[in-house]
Amino acid sequence: MIGIQYVILDLEWNSVYSKKHSKFINEIIEIGAVKLDESLRGIDSYSSLIATEIGKNLQKKVIELTHLTNEDISTGKSFGSVMSDFKKWIGKSDTVVMSWGKCDIYALMENFSYFSGSHQIPFLKSYVDLQEYCGELLNQPANMQLGLQPAAEKLSVVTEQLDMHRGLSDAVISAQCLQKVYLKQKFEKHIMTCDEQFYDRLLFKPYVIKNFKNPAFDTEKLLTDCPKCGQRLKRISKWSFKNSFYRCVMECRNCQRRFTTEVRFKQYYDYVDFKKKVREIRESNTENNKAD
Ligand SMILES: [Zn+2]
Repeated sequence: MIGIQYVILDLEWNSVYSKKHSKFINEIIEIGAVKLDESLRGIDSYSSLIATEIGKNLQKKVIELTHLTNEDISTGKSFGSVMSDFKKWIGKSDTVVMSWGKCDIYALMENFSYFSGSHQIPFLKSYVDLQEYCGELLNQPANMQLGLQPAAEKLSVVTEQLDMHRGLSDAVISAQCLQKVYLKQKFEKHIMTCDEQFYDRLLFKPYVIKNFKNPAFDTEKLLTDCPKCGQRLKRISKWSFKNSFYRCVMECRNCQRRFTTEVRFKQYYDYVDFKKKVREIRESNTENNKAD
């Protein structure tokens, strides 16, 4: 790709109750961004406050976190005009947009949905979740989210002169983290194309499969071998459902041990996650012992 550029954005928002939608909405109050050329050199920056329309006043915790005041916010322009201004600032070059975690993308989808009726983000063509990318490069376990501040500390990114929790400064810190851990091939694997599927995936809510007849409920996986001797276990109770897991009691006819077997099938957008726990039931202990 020739002439590619990178835009790293960071938003601040205020959680407000929308009577129109009968739910809380993270109303965006600030956007900050930096633009990098294809060698990751900073070439421009963007910062704009957005006047609130849904909520009149900032939450106390937002004021404490950002040091923004209601007066500051009232000087901002509307969400729609700031977003079209921001789209012009990005320009027509091939652009990979990034943010630290997908919360900013969810907030944009929610605000576009509220103000324009579509959750599609007009300036988003390609996207990288920097939290995931940097987390991978710093060997962060996949189930633990890496905060921007801890990442900056690990990477010796100097943040002292910057106000954390303001759009532009958080975007600058994110960019500096990227510059420290950028590896072209690994980075390119994280680039997502922002098509229909991209939004479907973000909007998909994972759920536990409760129906044995669901084709994703792979009954082969219920077969269990004795953890002690390897013999196939025999189920001696009905399956019951509790706390997302199906459970039953199984018995080993070879070594006379009994086990509680628990299984869970969870449907994600494009895969089914399977979990199984097998615990021995000891005569002296209750079924709920945590001796594994
Ligand atoms: Zn056995």
